[in-house]
Parts: sequence; structure tokens; C-alpha cells
Amino acid sequence: MIKTQNINGSKMSTRIFPKVLLILGIFASLILLNSCMGMMGMGGGCGMKGHGNHSGHNMQSTVGADTTLIRKGIIEVESIDVNKDGFVYQDQMDWNVISDNPGKCPLCGMELQKVGIEKAKENLKKNGFNVKQ
Ligand SMILES: [Zn+2]
Repeated sequence: MIKTQNINGSKMSTRIFPKVLLILGIFASLILLNSCMGMMGMGGGCGMKGHGNHSGHNMQSTVGADTTLIRKGIIEVESIDVNKDGFVYQDQMDWNVISDNPGKCPLCGMELQKVGIEKAKENLKKNGFNVKQ
């Protein structure tokens, strides 16, 4: 339709032609963008596939606890006791999960127990964790 007008050589069509192309271009990009957004909204993503590994991570995050509470290496209980009240909150199953605040264990979801620093160290040592003296 546009081509035939152009061949005819009317002044109107030559002026309109670039504009039509521009508008078509904008429309096309808008449609592409919209379909991409729509797909993302439905959880599909824009041509991105293979999010399968994500479900594995969600296993831990569903507990809603802070994974930074999991202590590794040589554990310094004093440094975990930020407010210096002499107490920390320690998981009674995963002994290296220690927080200065009440909360839940990011591994098993159990409530952390309030224990003295020395008690927390004792628990760690008994269960084979490295404790900084
Ligand atoms: Zn735990």
C-alpha cells in the first residue's frame, strides 16, 4: 500500500512515507516491549529459560531467617554479642547458628535459644566447632 503510493510519486506520499515508517518502528518496538513485559509478569521472563535451579535455593529462604547467622571457621562468640550483654541466641541443633538477636535458624527453622557467651562456646566445642578463646 505504501509502496504503490510511492511509485505514483505524489508529493503527499513521499512526505508521509518516512513518518509512517517511524511510527511503524515505534509501534513494533512497543509491541515487542509489551509482549516481553507481559511474559515477565507471567513469570516467563524475556526469552530467559532455565530458572530451574532456583527452587533449590528457596528451600532455605522459605524459613525466612538470615543465612549470615551461620558461623564458619573459627567462631568468635564475643564478636557476635554486638550489644555486649553477655548473651547470644544459639540454635540447639546447628550450634554454629548464633545471633545477637532472637530469631529462627536458617537451616532447621527452630527458635534460637538465649545462652550466655560461655555456654555458647561450650556448646560449640562439645560439637566439634572451632572457637576463638
Ligand atoms: Zn538449626
